[in-house]
Amino acid sequence: MKTPNFMLKKAVCAVVGHRFVVSKKITSHITEYQCKTCKCELTTTETGHLDILTPEWKEINETLAQLYQKRHAVEQVA
Ligand SMILES: [Zn+2]
Repeated sequence: MKTPNFMLKKAVCAVVGHRFVVSKKITSHITEYQCKTCKCELTTTETGHLDILTPEWKEINETLAQLYQKRHAVEQVA
């Protein structure tokens, strides 16, 4: 029986660790990361810790990104 590809990738990550790259910059403190190997996602939280990027976090981050961009735009005009 052939091992499904994503199962193999998860196994690789379990052994050698994830290879995270920045997928989205939310604010100067909050960044979303994605593993290049298995595509799992993480986010930094307001406390500076890494957490699994749940749909709830995605929603929070989207709101934060909008607020951040708005504030940044105002700063650029002023
Ligand atoms: Zn991984």
